[in-house]
Amino acid sequence: MQQMVILGATGSIGASTLSVITSNPEAYSVYALVANTNVDKMLALCLEHKPKIAHMVDGVAASELKSRLPAHLQLEVTTGEDELYDLVTKSCVDTVMAAIVGAAGLLPTLAAVKAGKRVLLANKESLVMSGRLFIDAMRESGAQVLPVDSEHNAIFQAMPEPIQQSIGVCDLDAAGISHILLTGSGGPFLTSPLESLSAMTPEQACKHPNWSMGRKISVDSASMMNKGLEYIEARWLFNTKPEQLKVVIHPQSVVHSMVQYRDGSVLAQLGNPDMRTPIAHCMSYPKRITSGVEPLDFFTVGKLSFLQPDYKRFPCLSLAIEACKQGQEATTILNAANEISVAAFLENKLKFTDIAKINEQCLSQVSMSSLETIDDIIALDTQTRRYALDLVTKI
Ligand code: NAD
Ligand code: MG
Repeated sequence: MQQMVILGATGSIGASTLSVITSNPEAYSVYALVANTNVDKMLALCLEHKPKIAHMVDGVAASELKSRLPAHLQLEVTTGEDELYDLVTKSCVDTVMAAIVGAAGLLPTLAAVKAGKRVLLANKESLVMSGRLFIDAMRESGAQVLPVDSEHNAIFQAMPEPIQQSIGVCDLDAAGISHILLTGSGGPFLTSPLESLSAMTPEQACKHPNWSMGRKISVDSASMMNKGLEYIEARWLFNTKPEQLKVVIHPQSVVHSMVQYRDGSVLAQLGNPDMRTPIAHCMSYPKRITSGVEPLDFFTVGKLSFLQPDYKRFPCLSLAIEACKQGQEATTILNAANEISVAAFLENKLKFTDIAKINEQCLSQVSMSSLETIDDIIALDTQTRRYALDLVTKI
């Protein structure tokens, strides 16, 4: 029985993870659920899944949850940063699902990595911010990190086993791999007239044609910043050189990414766009379990198409690829700027097209001190957020 902690339990990935656990009750047990502020949702999850611990990052939310839980549940409610790190590093915990959204996921995810846990990584932002330090910590502790992001999970599945066993330090050349083809649907604005983009609302941006996700990643998909963050994520997970990574637009989201080999072979992973597939793969790797996802019906799918990305339509994608080439300072700045600009857009304080403008200005204006430690990264993240917030008020 694997004891699991779910960071970001009340979110979209949290829900999919709990659904896979429910389908496989003999193999997985929910040890702890972690969320930020959503007491109603957390209460419902506690009643259904009966974890030993429910952790709310927000102290007021923790008190409210405590007062609303029925006494017979025998469940401990915790709050506080240190308590969260203690929770993910407990010796009885086998597996940590890292599914907090944004930079807030960095420290708890890293704590699980340092404690040598099996870490199912959905929180791509932690790799975008701390790539090198993250991989070093993983190697040092012996933690097994498995990619939940559907594209990276597809790439992982299409890789030979020695590469799967050497995530972060793998040698693609030696394995005969020429390219990783990172696919992306292009989001809801793939074919919208360019001049209409500035008037797009948060509701339109969050209406993804194929995937149902949290609001931040949905906006990132509309701007293709999500693909940019994934480009950086792939760079670290698969130790790629820039010329080995290509982005391919694939509107149907059936091919979840591909690996191209020197001999002309291309291996792809296909499936319905449902995160329970990569989550189940990570939970049971190297075995396979039931995920609850419908089998792919090729006759319904009919046609698969592939296009070149249009960098004029998706300036955030080129910003991310450029930042990846520059290094960890640039990717940390871009990530922080993007979290602020996306949040401001979701609050109707910015136009959709201002997201890329703010991100670009932060990249060119925030000074890039060199990053040696996690504290350096957090400091640069904080400094960038301040700068971006100031830009939001001026725009
Ligand atoms: P979501 O918005 O649905 O859920 C976010 C979760 O994070 C919630 O449980 C919330 O309580 C928690 N959270 C937010 N702020 C927090 C804080 N300060 N401290 C602690 N917890 C906090 O997001 P999601 O769509 O589930 O995405 C989660 C992560 O997974 C993101 O990093 C995203 O990029 C990644 N991801 C998501 C999908 C998807 O299909 N949803 C796919 C691939 C990767
Ligand atoms: Mg993805």
